[in-house]
Amino acid sequence: MATKDLQNISELESRKVAEASREAEWAQPSFLREMFLGNFRLDLIYPFPFQEEERPEFTAFYQTLKEFLRDQVDPIEIDATGEYPADVVDGLRKLGAFGMKIPKKYGGLGFTNVEYQKVMQLFGSIDGNLSALLSAHQSIGVPQPLKLFGTEALKKKYLPRCAAGDISAFALTEMQVGSDPARLQTDAVKTPEGDYILNGEKLWCTNGTLAKLLVVMARDPKSKKISAFVVEVDWPGVKIEHRCHFMGLRALANAVISFKDVRVPAENLIGQEGKGLKIALTTLNDGRLSIPNGSVGTAKICIEICRKWASERVQWGKPVGKHEAIAHKLADMAATTFAMESIANLATEMSDRGGYDIRLEAAACKEWNTCRTWEIVDETMQIRGGRGYETEKSLQARGEQPIGVERIMRDYRINKIFEGSSEIMHLFMAREAVDKHLQVAGALIDPEKPLTDKVAELPKIAAFYGSWYPTRWLGWGQWPRYQEFGDMAAHLRFVERNTRRLSRQIFHGMVVHQGKLQNKQAFLFRLVDIANELFAMAASVARVQGMRDNGYADAEKAAELADLACRNARRKVAQLFRALWSNDDVRKYKVALKVLDGQHAWLEEGIQRIDDKSLKPKVSFGVEDPAPVPKVRPVGTH
Ligand SMILES: Cc1cc2nc3c(=O)[nH]c(=O)nc-3n(C[C@H](O)[C@H](O)[C@H](O)COP(=O)(O)OP(=O)(O)OC[C@H]3O[C@@H](n4cnc5c(N)ncnc54)[C@H](O)[C@@H]3O)c2cc1C
Repeated sequence: MATKDLQNISELESRKVAEASREAEWAQPSFLREMFLGNFRLDLIYPFPFQEEERPEFTAFYQTLKEFLRDQVDPIEIDATGEYPADVVDGLRKLGAFGMKIPKKYGGLGFTNVEYQKVMQLFGSIDGNLSALLSAHQSIGVPQPLKLFGTEALKKKYLPRCAAGDISAFALTEMQVGSDPARLQTDAVKTPEGDYILNGEKLWCTNGTLAKLLVVMARDPKSKKISAFVVEVDWPGVKIEHRCHFMGLRALANAVISFKDVRVPAENLIGQEGKGLKIALTTLNDGRLSIPNGSVGTAKICIEICRKWASERVQWGKPVGKHEAIAHKLADMAATTFAMESIANLATEMSDRGGYDIRLEAAACKEWNTCRTWEIVDETMQIRGGRGYETEKSLQARGEQPIGVERIMRDYRINKIFEGSSEIMHLFMAREAVDKHLQVAGALIDPEKPLTDKVAELPKIAAFYGSWYPTRWLGWGQWPRYQEFGDMAAHLRFVERNTRRLSRQIFHGMVVHQGKLQNKQAFLFRLVDIANELFAMAASVARVQGMRDNGYADAEKAAELADLACRNARRKVAQLFRALWSNDDVRKYKVALKVLDGQHAWLEEGIQRIDDKSLKPKVSFGVEDPAPVPKVRPVGTH
């Protein structure tokens, strides 16, 4: 697609592309989707799904891996050199770590998602570079879409290679394609023989410089439909143009990759032609669980660091952890980590059970856990004080324990951006939150629908809302409901009441904002934040009760953390509900438009502007006509 055409892609077209790739068929309901409709389906999450006895085969792998990581892997060196040591990558290959999720019949270890995510949690506590290497390969790289959509022939051809350690990468992003796949430019032109010719360039492919195999998203220039292909890196026309370097994840083997007349055999198409985006997004539904599970590992190591430091470090007459300001941070960290683990465990278990629509739960886990973990990492740096900001090597050189909080911070930050940024996770969830209302009453607020169509829809709309809306006021969320949950019952009652309140507010938002609701991101994002808090509360309580039911030794300790997590959540939920209708959203948007327009550029006086310096790109990889930065336009009227 020519660059000029890209400028003309409207917000509506971007939405249409995203809409077309939504998965619609699921056997089992989604807990969060039901919540958006005002139904608190405790039965979907309680009894809390605990893993049955760990399989000896997995325990043996996990122990060997743990020892390997302890004895053979030095995250400080990986960070300092910016490279994966060959012996570490080979060691992981020998252990089978590149094939954890690949079924045994294709040479993998055949782990369940729960088992795989337990490993991801471990990596999350050790090194972000290694987490990314393994996760980009098997959460989103070739194994996952092939497992879900590949033909038997494709599986037989590539899965054994992937399991043996032929590293793979996932190539969706381009210069003009970040969160918006409608702007995809890589072409896949079908030949008369049925093969495809790829031309284009992909940006930021994690594992790209090490990969032998790629999943590439490309579009038919005529139909504009996007398809997914397995591409071998050593095929003629595939070129690694550049290795990208970042603030953290210094060893990431991340590349710009170009495709010049690359011939892809017809059989390397994954799934159906034109379904590439759906495949990519479905892959991410499950794949997206690695980051929140890894985040739990990161949060846990932060707690360990803070627990030790805050009890050893004495200032102003007592350990810093006993000063209330720091003590509160520690309590919140522990409570939040318990809640994070509860939602991650729940969604992972549900994905193993299959049939459940876990898109929303996975997105909630990705969004909530990455934001919470980022806060925890930030507080960890605060608690470690100057030592948090000092590098491990420097600490070590002057005789202190090398604890790399600054490395954790650099490595962690990207998690709020890639595999669906926080904003995109909110948008995705908000779309699902209003889905039923759009199905029922969408015609009424659709500006493209004629008046006659709208009038014709009225009986259907009245029939639905005539019974749905009053019942959103009617449930019972007061004592003695959920008494069997003991001291946790009040939290569940809060979730029940506020689930119905949430659904009413979604409906009120539709009535008040109508067609403009889609642009009211602040309003929609608050609804999503409320749902995420309620989800975290419900999952934490269900887990505590499950621990009690099963006689877990730590059940009462867990109850203490869940109780604090719920109390924190209740305050946030109350604030978010208030802010739905009492806010500065319109004023802020107006100010933002002026900032964008340069009307507040006067404020930038007194600095050396980036435009004053010659900050020009040094090379352009075969892109003859670099796209101009699109002129910013408002995305909607308020
Ligand atoms: C280290 C690293 C590794 C990566 N690995 C891979 C990989 O392996 N494969 C791959 O294909 N890609 C990869 N990516 C790309 C990554 O997925 C993208 O960076 C991400 O999708 C966001 O795209 P963008 O950076 O272009 O931001 P943009 O899409 O340009 O967005 C900029 C900002 O605007 C926000 N935004 C965008 N649209 C909206 C909207 N409609 N409403 C509100 N806010 C919005 C975004 O959330 C973000 O904050 C990687 C990126 C990095 C940095």
